[in-house]
Amino acid sequence: MSKEVEVRCRCGEVRGVVANASPRTVNRVVCYCDDCQAFAHQLGRADLLDAQGGTDIVQVAPAAVSFAQGQHRIVGLRLTPKGLFRWHTSCCNTPIGNTLTPAIPFVGIVAQVFDTGAQHPDQVFGAPIGAILGKYAIGEAPAGSTGMNLSVLLPAIGKVLGWRLRGRNWPHPFFKPRTREPIYPLTVLAREQRETLRRFCGPHPTAQ
Ligand SMILES: [Zn+2]
Ligand SMILES: [Zn+2]
Repeated sequence: MSKEVEVRCRCGEVRGVVANASPRTVNRVVCYCDDCQAFAHQLGRADLLDAQGGTDIVQVAPAAVSFAQGQHRIVGLRLTPKGLFRWHTSCCNTPIGNTLTPAIPFVGIVAQVFDTGAQHPDQVFGAPIGAILGKYAIGEAPAGSTGMNLSVLLPAIGKVLGWRLRGRNWPHPFFKPRTREPIYPLTVLAREQRETLRRFCGPHPTAQ
């Protein structure tokens, strides 16, 4: 069963939808990498991380995502000059999509940002198919999350290739079609800023 699901920032100013949401059309994984943890801390949104620092991410095709309200509140952050584009809202620091450039089409959206109504997110997207980059997890790494997790990586690569082949990179919610430039203002963290975030991140955080 596929359906349209609302994406909404915490304060409600930014709203959008993901079309055709179903376990077959998305790729859901929990990412324990230190960059996802650093990003959540930079936003002051550690509430979105699980106890081991994991981020529950639903990856969808760019063409499935559209914003209908509050676009002037959308901004982007890169932790490094070549890092992921981590789009979030400036009203309430809600992450609303991680991307690469449109050439590698996917939008990774934190599961908590969806309003699935009366349905559990597992019913709409399926449960996470696994966890990755557990070497950065805080405390004990979740089972199967360390090393090359092919059962997670291969489906993810397959989805992205399929989206690219079917032209699902356009329209892209965060990039302009003609120039392929970002639509929204972008900040790149300075190295020192990034380093101050590392102490909050796994595997051994040194800050509270
Ligand atoms: Zn907001
Ligand atoms: Zn990550």
